Amino acid sequence: MTKIKVKNTIVELDGDEMTRIIWASIKEKLILPYLDVNLEYYDLGLPKRDETDDAITTEAALAIKKHRVGVKCATITPDAERVDEYKLKKAWLSPNGTLRSILDGTVFRKPITVKNIEPAVRSWKLPISIGRHAYGDIYKAQDCVIPGPGLVELVYTPESGEQVKVPVHTFKKGGGVVMGMHNTDASIVSFAQACIAYALSEKVDLWFAAKDTISKKYHGRFKELFGAEVAKHEASFKAAGIEYRYFLIDDAVAQIMKHPGGMLWACMNYDGDVFSDMIASGFGSLGMMTSVLVSPDGAFEYEAAHGTVRRHYYEHLKGNATSTNSVASIFAWSGAIRKRGELDGTPDVVGFADKLERAVISLIEEGVVTKDLVNLVVPAAKGYENTEGFLDQVAKRLQSTL
Ligand code: NAP
Ligand code: MG
Repeated sequence: MTKIKVKNTIVELDGDEMTRIIWASIKEKLILPYLDVNLEYYDLGLPKRDETDDAITTEAALAIKKHRVGVKCATITPDAERVDEYKLKKAWLSPNGTLRSILDGTVFRKPITVKNIEPAVRSWKLPISIGRHAYGDIYKAQDCVIPGPGLVELVYTPESGEQVKVPVHTFKKGGGVVMGMHNTDASIVSFAQACIAYALSEKVDLWFAAKDTISKKYHGRFKELFGAEVAKHEASFKAAGIEYRYFLIDDAVAQIMKHPGGMLWACMNYDGDVFSDMIASGFGSLGMMTSVLVSPDGAFEYEAAHGTVRRHYYEHLKGNATSTNSVASIFAWSGAIRKRGELDGTPDVVGFADKLERAVISLIEEGVVTKDLVNLVVPAAKGYENTEGFLDQVAKRLQSTL
């Protein structure tokens, strides 16, 4: 069989633990036999990050910026326990945090839906993607406990000119709590740009919600800047057949519970933190949730939303069979391959990504699953595949469709 030629480079970021094992198998069984592709490889496994003083993570981010398409395996974000376990020089920063800040990107999560897993919400028929603004608000706030009566003010000292003071509250009987938080116009605009790029790329409606009736200036600024950015893309939205809708956040929550889904829900930082977990559990399993980091200038990095599945890895090291769901990692690959094909204008590459995803979905719909899905599929599966067994089934199915 002749392999399908992929015109331009895909940047590959390897990772840790169970997902590293799955990663190698996906490449060996599902990708390399079929694609003639130049993979620019960066090992983001913890030992290599430690050896390079984490320079490898920055190099990988710059490579994605250059080539515009990357695919990433889950990685350990080290804490004190991991520093001991891996004898690290220090607790290196979260690789995903580093990638996000270099690419100035926004993370979108999207569930992989199959016919035999019913979402918890009856009306949901299509995946709901969540885009979370990952800068500022309460995550970069200063807060303090006010011990007793007194005045609290916000003070702005411009580089030149008069100070501006805004009273927050005069505590009269006893104290309380206060918080000062911020966001920047630049960050709000690049968040909007990334959401627009994702909505156009996936051809889904774009929802944005805030509470500008109450927070007229803070949330009002988000509404204004987001809306202005969307207005610049009116023609592209029309061409893609998609719409932009602004809601009050409580209205959006009420609407989404009766909606068939199939939209991108752009969320302010805190809303995204909360609602991405709600959507993930509403659709079923962590093993079925994909994630893509989109930069405002249109670079895309695909990955699974879950971590390195540490517990399964320790079982694997003991020589025990594991049944880890590889679907989100496979879809990270298919997502990157499809995007590469779209950017390169190579429909056969896009077609391969479609076939790979169909192979996975049709297997699950026939009840061939890993352990995490046994009781989620209806009717419940009779048994389950181990980690490699599931991948072998996908490989066989894929082979038969090519
Ligand atoms: P995790 O990898 O998300 O797994 C937590 C639990 O969720 C697993 O023990 C397993 O439950 C279930 N699970 C998750 N993915 C699964 C899959 N594909 N198939 C089957 N079950 C799955 O979180 P963790 O094990 O607590 O974290 C391990 C490391 O991942 C941490 O060091 C963290 O820093 C890192 N992490 C990385 C990323 C990333 O790179 N994007 C994201 C999150 C966490 P059962 O044990 O019940 O089977
Ligand atoms: Mg959360």
